[in-house]
Amino acid sequence: MNKIKMVTPLVEMDGDEMTRILWQMIKDELLLPYIDLKTDYYDLGLEKRNETNDKITMDSALATLKYGVAVKCATITPNAARMSEYNLKEMWKSPNGTIRAALDGTVFRAPIIVKGIEPCVKNWKKPITLARHAYGDVYKNTEMKISKKGKAELVFTDEDGNETRETIHVFDGPGIIQGMHNTEKSISSFAKSCFNYALDTKQDLWFSTKDTISKKYDHTFKDIFQEIYESEYKEKFEEAGITYFYTLIDDAVARVMKNAGGFIWACKNYDGDVMSDMVSSAFGSLAMMTSVLVSPSGVYEYEAAHGTVQRHYYKHLAGEETSTNSVATIFAWTGALRKRGELDAIPALINFADKLEQATISTIESGKMTKDLALITSLKDVTVLNSQNFIKEIRNTLETLL
Ligand code: NAP
Ligand code: MG
Repeated sequence: MNKIKMVTPLVEMDGDEMTRILWQMIKDELLLPYIDLKTDYYDLGLEKRNETNDKITMDSALATLKYGVAVKCATITPNAARMSEYNLKEMWKSPNGTIRAALDGTVFRAPIIVKGIEPCVKNWKKPITLARHAYGDVYKNTEMKISKKGKAELVFTDEDGNETRETIHVFDGPGIIQGMHNTEKSISSFAKSCFNYALDTKQDLWFSTKDTISKKYDHTFKDIFQEIYESEYKEKFEEAGITYFYTLIDDAVARVMKNAGGFIWACKNYDGDVMSDMVSSAFGSLAMMTSVLVSPSGVYEYEAAHGTVQRHYYKHLAGEETSTNSVATIFAWTGALRKRGELDAIPALINFADKLEQATISTIESGKMTKDLALITSLKDVTVLNSQNFIKEIRNTLETLL
């Protein structure tokens, strides 16, 4: 069989622990036999990040900006325990944070739907993709505890020293205050990423805030989205037959529960944090959730939503069998390959990505799956496979589809 040729390299970001093991298995079994894989490889494993003083992470982000599409393996975000475990020079920052900052992107998370793993919400038939704004608000706040009577004010001092003041509250006893911010630049990037991704995936876009209560802060989000929509996207949306819909966050929550899915829900940072965990757990499993970082300039970085599955890695190191679910990592690859195929006009690559996804889903639907899915499936007589055999089984299915 002739292998599929690629034109532009995919930026490949390798990672840590169990997902690094799966990464190699996926390449060996499901990609390299079929594709003349062209990648610009960056090892974001913690050892390499430590060795390069984390320069490798920035290099991989710059390569992503250059080539336009990346696929990333899960990586360790160091904490105190990792400092001694890996003998680190510094507590290096989260690679995802570094890459997100460089790409100025928004993260879209979508569940992979298979028969036999039913969402808890029975009318959800199609995926609900959550778009979370990843900058500011309560995540970059300043807080104060107030211990006695007094007046709290919001003060802005401009470059020339002019002050604008608003009274927050006149306290007659102890209390608490909080200040937070966002920028028009970041909100605009968020909006553009959302509109682009909606066009890309041909799904309706919902956006929700609490603008009736937060008449300046949340209302600015609503206004920026509306302005950008009217001036840059309205016609494109109409052509694509999709809609942009703004509603209050509480109304959105109520509608989401009654809806069949198949749309993108854009949320502010905190709402997105909370709602993405609700949506992902209601759809079944973190191991069945994909994640893509989309920059406003149309650069894409695909990954799994879960971490490095540390507990399984230690079992693997101890020579024990593991049954780690590789679906989200496989879909990170197919997402990236499909996008590369679209950008470079390589139908064979797009077709391969479709077939590999189909093979993965059919394998599970035929009752062959990893342990995490076997525990929640409604299918009867399932076969629980180990990490390696699950991937081999997907390859068998793939062979019948190609
Ligand atoms: P995790 O790797 O997502 O795993 C947490 C637990 O969820 C696992 O122990 C396992 O449960 C289950 N699980 C997750 N993915 C699975 C899969 N593919 N197949 C089967 N079970 C799966 O989270 P963590 O253990 O909290 O974090 C480990 C490391 O990942 C940390 O160093 C963290 O910094 C990093 N992390 C990276 C990313 C990223 O790069 N995007 C995201 C999150 C976390 P059982 O143990 O019950 O089987
Ligand atoms: Mg969270």
